[in-house]
Amino acid sequence: MSTDEKTNLNAEGKPLPLSRCPVCAHAMDQATCVAGGHRPKPGDFSICIQCGAILRYGPDYALCAASTDDASTDDLRFHLRLVQYAVRRLRKTP
Ligand SMILES: [Zn+2]
Repeated sequence: MSTDEKTNLNAEGKPLPLSRCPVCAHAMDQATCVAGGHRPKPGDFSICIQCGAILRYGPDYALCAASTDDASTDDLRFHLRLVQYAVRRLRKTP
């Protein structure tokens, strides 16, 4: 990833606050969209890069625990599981 991509900005162009994964407590203040070109906004899903937990941005951009049951479509559920699988597989690689 190039350093000029503003991965620490939300959809309003403001810095994401430091937030901890509610599952593993990993601290995060950046986000990368796997499809590119999207900055997070409240209600968007995220995946913890440390443990692969499915998360969601709250109104203040704090990360909240979520699940595939919260996804509105089968396509979104599929993509959440796909990214979750990729992160967990990455973390198991020595
Ligand atoms: Zn986590």
